[in-house]
Formats: sequence, structure tokens, C-alpha cells
Amino acid sequence: MLLIPCPWCGPRDETEFSYGGEAHIARPKDPHALSDEEWADYLFMRKNPRGRHLEQWVHAHGCRRWFNVERDTVSYRINSVYKMGERPPRGRK
Ligand SMILES: [Zn+2]
Repeated sequence: MLLIPCPWCGPRDETEFSYGGEAHIARPKDPHALSDEEWADYLFMRKNPRGRHLEQWVHAHGCRRWFNVERDTVSYRINSVYKMGERPPRGRK
């Protein structure tokens, strides 16, 4: 079981959280200008990497705030958490 460090509440059991998918997926500035393929890419295509992954989580049964988690998908180790609007650690997306 994961122990997830909420930036506001501190470490809590993963059962208090809900996963929100990959972080830093930006909504297109002009959605009407996108082709069907580009729109499908925005909606459905995600990186699904082996290793470092930037994810969104919400503390659903706590403070109910969203934040980002840098997690290793192989070891499940959480390397860092950071608030929405902040840059990911090491400046990478
Ligand atoms: Zn919290």
C-alpha cells in the first residue's frame, strides 16, 4: 500500500486519495483548429512510461485538494509531490 504525502496534510494512506491521470496535459488553446486526430491525441493518448511519471492525485477523503506526484511506475516509489501550478522537480515534464 502506498503512503502518499499530501502537500497540505502530510503522509496519508492511499485509500484516502483518487488518481487523476497524467499531469501537465494542457487543453488546446483553440480546440476548433484541431484535426480529429489531434483531438483524439489530446483526449486519449498518454505516455504510460516505465519509470518516472508525473501524475495528478486528489486527497478525496481529506482536504479534497489536487496536487501532482512524481512516482516511479516500476518501484511505485514517490519521489516528490508538488502543488498544482508548480513546476515539476528537475524542470522536466
Ligand atoms: Zn490533503
